[in-house]
Amino acid sequence: MFLIYKNTYIQKKILSLKIECDYNKCKGACCKGEGLGTPLNLKDIERISEATSKDSFYHYFRGPRLVCEKNGDCSFLNGDLCSINDIKPDFCILFPLQIERKNGLEYILFNPYEKCKFKDSDKFLIEHVSKALNRLYGNDFVPGLIKLAGSLENV
Ligand code: SF4
Ligand code: SF4
Repeated sequence: MFLIYKNTYIQKKILSLKIECDYNKCKGACCKGEGLGTPLNLKDIERISEATSKDSFYHYFRGPRLVCEKNGDCSFLNGDLCSINDIKPDFCILFPLQIERKNGLEYILFNPYEKCKFKDSDKFLIEHVSKALNRLYGNDFVPGLIKLAGSLENV
């Protein structure tokens, strides 16, 4: 089931999720071994280029993506940690939420990876990823969604 918010179809269950990634348990599994590389938007490329003074971190494969190591790990992975955590791509911040565009419509979906491990949180998942959502949709996006989530909670 979806609800439409600011021209975006949002999977309704997302608004009831009060969880966050449990890095101690998943060990950043989504950064490891998939091989295609994280999809990037233009702002990600600008931000990471500026901070690293490099442009060799991305390549094109069905759009711009972060380069991976031979074993498929993200090239910015350092052990189990992201070495560019403060400036990482919106895709990384959002995951396991994913944005899909089909037939001119935009969807926000909850698509956890099989190795994901979550823990309960006193905040909504959308608050944990608000940096990316607000960057992509505007600063009023997450506050409006939280209001909506609160009103659904009380139904
Ligand atoms: S940029 Fe950081 S968070 Fe994103 S895939 Fe690479 S290591 Fe993981
Ligand atoms: S998205 Fe999944 S695998 Fe990635 S950090 Fe969060 S819980 Fe771990």
